[in-house]
Amino acid sequence: MKKTVLVSGGAGYIGSHVTVELIEAGYDVVVADNMSNCDMTCFEGVKKITGREDIPFVKMDFCDAAAVEDLFGRFKIDAVIHFAAFKAVGESVAKPVMYYKNNLGSFLNVLEAAQAHGGCNVLFSSSATVYGEAEKLPVTEQSPRLPATSPYGNTKQICEDILRDTVKATHAAGATGAINGIALRYFNPIGAHPSALIGELPRGVPNNLVPFITQTAIGKRECLSIFGNDYPTPDGTCLRDYIDVVDLAKAHVVAVARMLNGKMKADYEIFNVGTGRPVSVAELVNSFEKVNGVKLNYRFVDRRPGDVTAIWAETSLANEELGWKAERSVEQTLASAWAWEKHIAESNKK
Ligand code: UDP
Repeated sequence: MKKTVLVSGGAGYIGSHVTVELIEAGYDVVVADNMSNCDMTCFEGVKKITGREDIPFVKMDFCDAAAVEDLFGRFKIDAVIHFAAFKAVGESVAKPVMYYKNNLGSFLNVLEAAQAHGGCNVLFSSSATVYGEAEKLPVTEQSPRLPATSPYGNTKQICEDILRDTVKATHAAGATGAINGIALRYFNPIGAHPSALIGELPRGVPNNLVPFITQTAIGKRECLSIFGNDYPTPDGTCLRDYIDVVDLAKAHVVAVARMLNGKMKADYEIFNVGTGRPVSVAELVNSFEKVNGVKLNYRFVDRRPGDVTAIWAETSLANEELGWKAERSVEQTLASAWAWEKHIAESNKK
């Protein structure tokens, strides 16, 4: 029997890539999204890539407990991958109540419904932001989580804790509706599907580096600001671990399989999902120019408040336990990001 995976927030950037990989791995997928931060472009792209017109899509808000309960009643869900959350750091500082309400509320509703329907395997999309400005690099899953510097980051930490506690309680003697949990801590997801049919679609001015680069290259933005060139790093710009979104999506597939096949070593597990390679902002910009043969207009400006100097992943746990490894080079990924930006420009002309 095919297993069914619910992807909450499945019409968004990472959710759409994960949906493709799940379907290609033979799972049935239910996509649910409130479309608050995306349109149907990526879901339509998912259907084209997979050749599947029949993927169930439910437009719903995960903050609506009755709707979540109803969803679990309509489908027999074997695993949930939870993406439905707000993700803009700056906005979270300005609107903390909105962030806590949405990001915690939606996750609590998922866990409540999952328990009520006899238990489930739950994969939570966490973030390397939980490590903050780490003292020791690369960070391992055992590295301390530092106090979050934004409400967004705090919601990631709190949701990890909610999942850990729920897993523990539901596995305790006598409890019903056991929840198994995996938190994947993403580093910096970038790039797009090689088909260029799905990718990141930021609304308004992008906060993240790669969409800002591609929009500058295509002429939507005049100039890329590189935030800080006086960091204590080899070239003075920040170091990050940029992970290809398709590689990242594949990590979800193996993590889900691990839960469904009873291969977990503990009822709650955490994995870093990165490449293990630090790349500076200046290096990334240079690689983008080189691999795509375009010149970028950029300048160095002041540091952006809240940015950490450097963060990259120790990936051996994911490599060994999940049998997963990032495969695409940063050059391939930057070429895919550019192909996607050009695809959007073409579609907008039509
Ligand atoms: N960055 C930049 N200009 C931009 C956006 C980002 O120089 O327009 C830098 C940012 O300071 C950080 C890196 O690019 O060092 C990655 O930032 P992003 O927002 O993509 O991800 P973060 O690491 O903050 O989650």
